[in-house]
Amino acid sequence: MAKVPAPLRGVQQQVGRTLTKALGLTEPVSLRRTDPDHVDVPLASGPVLVVGTGPDADALATALLGWGVDVRRHSPQVGAPAQQRWGAVVAVLTDLESPGEEAEAVLAVAGVLRDLARCARVVTLSRLPRPDDTPARSAARAGVEGLVRSLGKELRAGATANGLQLADGVDVAAPAVLGALRFLVSARSAFVDGQLLPITSDGVAPADWTRPLEGLVAVVTGAARGIGAETVRVLARDGAHVLGVDVPAAGEGLARTMNAVGGIALQLDITAPDAGERILDRAERAFGGLDVLVHNAGILRDKLLANMSPEQWTSVVGVNLAAQLAITQTLAARVPDLVQVSLASTSGIAGNRGQTNYGYSKAGVIGATQAWAPVLAAGGGRANAVAPGFIETEMTSSIPAVPREISRRASSLGQGGKPVDVAEAIAFLASPQAGGVNGAVLRVCGQNLVGR
Ligand code: NAD
Repeated sequence: MAKVPAPLRGVQQQVGRTLTKALGLTEPVSLRRTDPDHVDVPLASGPVLVVGTGPDADALATALLGWGVDVRRHSPQVGAPAQQRWGAVVAVLTDLESPGEEAEAVLAVAGVLRDLARCARVVTLSRLPRPDDTPARSAARAGVEGLVRSLGKELRAGATANGLQLADGVDVAAPAVLGALRFLVSARSAFVDGQLLPITSDGVAPADWTRPLEGLVAVVTGAARGIGAETVRVLARDGAHVLGVDVPAAGEGLARTMNAVGGIALQLDITAPDAGERILDRAERAFGGLDVLVHNAGILRDKLLANMSPEQWTSVVGVNLAAQLAITQTLAARVPDLVQVSLASTSGIAGNRGQTNYGYSKAGVIGATQAWAPVLAAGGGRANAVAPGFIETEMTSSIPAVPREISRRASSLGQGGKPVDVAEAIAFLASPQAGGVNGAVLRVCGQNLVGR
């Protein structure tokens, strides 16, 4: 992850702009984002329309009234002039038994798509398909996934389409559903698009929705810069006490990040054999315990496999995967209700030329997350992963200008994400707001057009 000097970055940006012009591409929409220094961004950018015919749609609309947003149950008559731009449309499809039953609600969504506000949200609520479903019910439930992923590719002006898939038995107005919906409707999910998030338990509402991490202690590895530094800021904004970890060589950046939020800095290479012990010891001495662990530190050593040196392979797997496994092993034994969020990557899902080592490590992170999920759940904890796509950090600034611009454009939102976009997803998964989400991989990739 060699740092690109500032003048060269300027040249790269210029090349990107020239390429954009030459290919006749439009400038991407400026996304509605949060600012970690200001918590008062309105939840939705306009009224929220809840569509759906069953009792679940009524129950959800009633529950949303408590959010202080303008919730509507009925769209205007077809052909009537639009009164307002919808900030969000929530389609409740939880009672589907067979294909065809979705049509009324889906067509109600279709009727308002031309009247969406900039960066509006379309969110579906449906049921997770089960192996013992009847074929018709399984088809109807699974179909929602194709609807969401296709709609994400149709929406314009920074609008996104995402879905929540509720396990049978999870109430549509359960705290975990409202918590996840709140994330997807808000500016915090700016770069999450075309994703389906499973909700497998009811969860518990946070005491304060605006500071859901109040009083919790969080550790973030790789906290000196990029996504890690932004995660520290967002977790602190949400009320957490934060311990930031990074290598001694990054000590200056680490101190700057942690001082800004009144947190604690720990200079430590996470591949050290006693890294888990040292993290726990420092968190206990500074804050009296540890609740949340964010495995963010990661490195790139890109090479085609034919040219890969042993060091390039082993260092990437060592930092990105083996160190995470060892640290969690130590912590899980002492903190049974640990809440863990790990950084995977779309390269670990779809693969990427020149990244066999990185792809192995990030797919491994997903495998580890799925295995830790039931183990931690037994003690009251959770394990989830975030898979960023192309995010504008020093890591990606080392990519040459042309493939870099192509990577930015190859998403439904037509641009790269910002560290804050990933940080917000991490903070959401770390908080009680995501209490019903376990073993999931949430992509923050603007619906990157590779993989699922
Ligand atoms: P970055 O290079 O800007 O920051 C990574 C940080 O990790 C650095 O501060 C570095 O010093 C630290 N680190 C590296 N090795 C360490 C070690 N052994 N011990 C302690 N700290 C160590 O990277 P970023 O772009 O902010 O990425 C953060 C995470 O997100 C990584 O896991 C990365 O793989 C993942 N990710 C990033 C992108 C992207 O587009 N930027 C995409 C997908 C996934």
